[in-house]
Amino acid sequence: MRTPVRDHVPSRPTWRCRACGIAWPCSPAKLLLLARYRGDMPGLMVHLVTLREEAAADRFAQHYPGAQPADLHRRFTDWVPIRSP
Ligand SMILES: [Zn+2]
Repeated sequence: MRTPVRDHVPSRPTWRCRACGIAWPCSPAKLLLLARYRGDMPGLMVHLVTLREEAAADRFAQHYPGAQPADLHRRFTDWVPIRSP
């Protein structure tokens, strides 16, 4: 299945974007995810919570010195709009 976020996907276990090299989700990844899940923010949130848990299982924090557990929430899910646009 073709996916619009194939280029801006996380590299594990560091969870950096394969295209940008910065912390995933990068801005292009967020825009693509919002487009992909347009009208289905609950679905996007479920997707991101799943990835957040996978990142935690990958000991994500060891790749980011000083990272706090709350950082995972901010990075993976806090940017999602509560209501659909
Ligand atoms: Zn990227």
